[in-house]
Amino acid sequence: MWSSSHAWLKPTTNPPLRVTCMSPVSVVAPAKLNLSLAVGGPRPDGYHDLATVYHAVSLFDEIIATPGKGLQITVEASSGIDVDSVPLDETNLAAQAALLLAEQTGQDPDVSLHIRKGIPVAGGLAGGSADAAAALLACDALWGVGLGRSELLTLAAQLGSDVPFSVMGGTALGVGRGEHLTPALARGRFEWVFAVAEGGLSTPQVYAECDRLRDGRVLPEPHVSDAMMSALRSGDAVALGQALQNDLQPAACSLRPALLLTMEVGDDAEALGSLVSGSGPTVAFLARDAEHALDIAVSLSASGTCKAVKRAHGAVAGARVAGER
Ligand code: ATP
Repeated sequence: MWSSSHAWLKPTTNPPLRVTCMSPVSVVAPAKLNLSLAVGGPRPDGYHDLATVYHAVSLFDEIIATPGKGLQITVEASSGIDVDSVPLDETNLAAQAALLLAEQTGQDPDVSLHIRKGIPVAGGLAGGSADAAAALLACDALWGVGLGRSELLTLAAQLGSDVPFSVMGGTALGVGRGEHLTPALARGRFEWVFAVAEGGLSTPQVYAECDRLRDGRVLPEPHVSDAMMSALRSGDAVALGQALQNDLQPAACSLRPALLLTMEVGDDAEALGSLVSGSGPTVAFLARDAEHALDIAVSLSASGTCKAVKRAHGAVAGARVAGER
C-alpha cells in the first residue's frame, strides 16, 4: 500500500502501471574508503557527528535480482573473502533495502537477491551498505518502479549512514552521521592497496573504544582539513597521502594491535600514506602509481601480516545497473 508519510512516492491519480522485468537485473556497487574521518562526541541518540571525505574504490559487490516468490538471499564469495557472517535473513542490508522499497511503493517483496561479494565483510569498507544501495537499484529496475535519484537517496539514508554514498559514488564530503553529502571537487586517479585483516571489527565496538580512549574530553566540531580539500582539488597524490586522517584509527589499533605491524610494512614499501579504513580492520595504502601499488601489494603479501591483499583505484562511480543478465 502507498505510505501516507511519504508524499513524494504517492501517485497523483491512479497508481502507475508497473511491469516487472522478467530477466534478472545485475547491479554493481563499490566499496568506500574514508580519506578523512573526523568524529565528534557521542550524541544523545547514540550516534556521533562526523565530518568525512568518502572515496569510492574499484572493489565491487554485485547483486543479481531475479523475480521470485517472497524474498530470498543467497551469497557467493570471491577469493580471500569470508562470507560466514553475512546473514541470509531479513537482517541482511540488501533484504532490508528490498523490503523498504516494497513497503514504500505498495509492491510485494517478491525477489531473489544473489550477492557476489567482492568487498571484504566487516572490514570498514561499507560492503553491507554497498549491497543495500545495489538492492535498491536492482529492485527498482526489476519492479519497474522508476524512482529518481533524490528519492533513491532518501530511501538510502533510512537504511544506513553510508548507503547514500554507495548510491552516489565518486568523492564526497559527508556530515551529520555521514548521510548528508556534497560532491567534492576532486581530480585525478588514485592507486590504493588494501590489507584485509583476519576477522572483522564491529563498528559499534570501535566507536565505543574511541569514546573510552577519549575519556570524556571536550572535542572540537568535526571538520575536514584544508590540506585534504586542496590535495583533492589538485589531484596531488603526495599531498593526499600526507592529509589522510582517521579519528577511529587509535581505537581500531587498540582493539587490533597487529594492524600497527601491517602499517609498518606499507611504510617500509614507501606508501605515500596509510590509514585504517573507516572502523577497520582493513588498512589502506596510497601508492604513487600502479607499479608502486604492485610493489606494496607484494611486500604486504610476503609479510604475512594480513589475510589478503587487494588493489583498487578511485574514485569510481556509485551503484549502477550493469545490465539485464
Ligand atoms: P559498517 O558499514 O557498519 O562500517 P563494515 O563496512 O565494517 O560495516 P560490512 O561488510 O558492511 O562491514 O558488514 C558489517 C556487518 O553487517 C557484517 O558482519 C554482517 O553481520 C552485517 N551485514 C548485513 N548485511 C550484510 C551484507 N549484505 N554484506 C555484509 N555484511 C552484512
